[in-house]
Amino acid sequence: MVRVRYAPSPTGTLHIGGARTALFNYLFARHHHGRFILRVEDTDQARLVEGSEESMMRGLKSLGLVWDEGPDVGGDYGPYHQSERLARHKAALQQLLDAGQAYRCYCTPEELAEERARQEALKQPPRYSGKCRMRPQDDPIHTSGKPFVVRMKVPEEGTTVVQDLIRGPVTFENRILGDFVLAKSDGTPVYNFAVVLDDYDMAITHVIRGEEHLSNTPKQILVYQALNLDLPAFAHVPMILAPDHTKLSKRHGATSVEEYRQQGILPEALTNYLLLLGWSAPDDTEIMTLEQAAQWFDLDRVQHTAAIYDIKKLEWMNSQYLRLLPVDRIKEAVTPFLAAEGIVPESGPDLDTVIALVRERARTLVELAQGMAYFYVRPQTFEAKGVQKHFDATTPERLRALAEVLSQLSTWDHDSLMAAYDAEAARLEVKRAALIHPSRLAVTGRTVGPGLFELLEVLGQKETVDRLLETATA
Ligand code: GLU
Repeated sequence: MVRVRYAPSPTGTLHIGGARTALFNYLFARHHHGRFILRVEDTDQARLVEGSEESMMRGLKSLGLVWDEGPDVGGDYGPYHQSERLARHKAALQQLLDAGQAYRCYCTPEELAEERARQEALKQPPRYSGKCRMRPQDDPIHTSGKPFVVRMKVPEEGTTVVQDLIRGPVTFENRILGDFVLAKSDGTPVYNFAVVLDDYDMAITHVIRGEEHLSNTPKQILVYQALNLDLPAFAHVPMILAPDHTKLSKRHGATSVEEYRQQGILPEALTNYLLLLGWSAPDDTEIMTLEQAAQWFDLDRVQHTAAIYDIKKLEWMNSQYLRLLPVDRIKEAVTPFLAAEGIVPESGPDLDTVIALVRERARTLVELAQGMAYFYVRPQTFEAKGVQKHFDATTPERLRALAEVLSQLSTWDHDSLMAAYDAEAARLEVKRAALIHPSRLAVTGRTVGPGLFELLEVLGQKETVDRLLETATA
């Protein structure tokens, strides 16, 4: 049975890179009717951020990525916090020490820094010299109480090959890897060691993670081999780069799932967008549910070149979801944004009707809420360029006349409104548009929006007439 995991370190919030890795793991598990596991890699106490684990879990859940096993839901392979698996890590470490496959290294940080500086000056890659590797068993330093780290005894020759399911075989020279650290001087195992035991003990069949980990994989493979453990399959998903092909960072705008939420991106749209960062459906379908994606998803369609992050595409995706999702779902999602705009829905027309009317023009929930605002709050200002274009000396009189005509209507719907405007335009010998544009501006403060008659129908007779008169006398 396929078993995959997403293994975040709780050092911040959920970012799009992590969310995409989690998503690919989730879909791979679903596609193969396997299990998706959440493991929290919290051994590096110094880097832990309070509340990060909860916030990451919230982020994953908001994207619809539910795990089958994890710290909160349990499972047969727990505990799911790396820090709680320490005893097992330490036992395996001892096993490697006893077998002479790992050794204690007493070099101080200063000595190591000097070594690195020397290598740098000679333009050599940074690599531990292996000074402590040769220490005999009876070296008095072993009983001196001097702090030590544990290093892996990496073969000095040969290569380690990562059989990557996405990019094929990737070969690493063992000589270049150097004797990497397995456990720190306080005894805690480092990522490259703990991850092997956890993946093995949790019966992970496929390790699917970001490309930034590709250089860690040969080290992990060496640990598997030293402990005589069967390897999982490995797949490294491509990096996500900014449009200028640099590393994605703060200066490129929002990158955390929470920030996208605040900016009015629907989680459904974000998930769908993330899906296309490095993967494509066999028939190039772009808009799909998680269930559909799970039917199609496999690693053979994951690209190995970097995926380019494109905010315009994300906004486009979001605008599609704003149109597509049931009104009830949009209502739920837009509610906090309405509150932020100071809108009290009870003070105006039915939310469902207003959403249906304006959702086609919004790219984000922020824009949607703004586009809904004038149904609930009279406009305080008028778009300047609209005023210039559509208001002139005749405007007050025309608005007053329109208010008069509209107040007489006995039916208030699209067709009777259109008939009334046509009659008034004929009387004034102007085009209908000459009345529509100033009316829209007078009533909504804006130059764009849904069709005027649809909008007035929803706004209601009294409110429309009041607003026309208010603007006429302003
Ligand atoms: N804790 C590691 C990270 O957050 C996990 C890497 C892995 O999936 O092996 O990058």
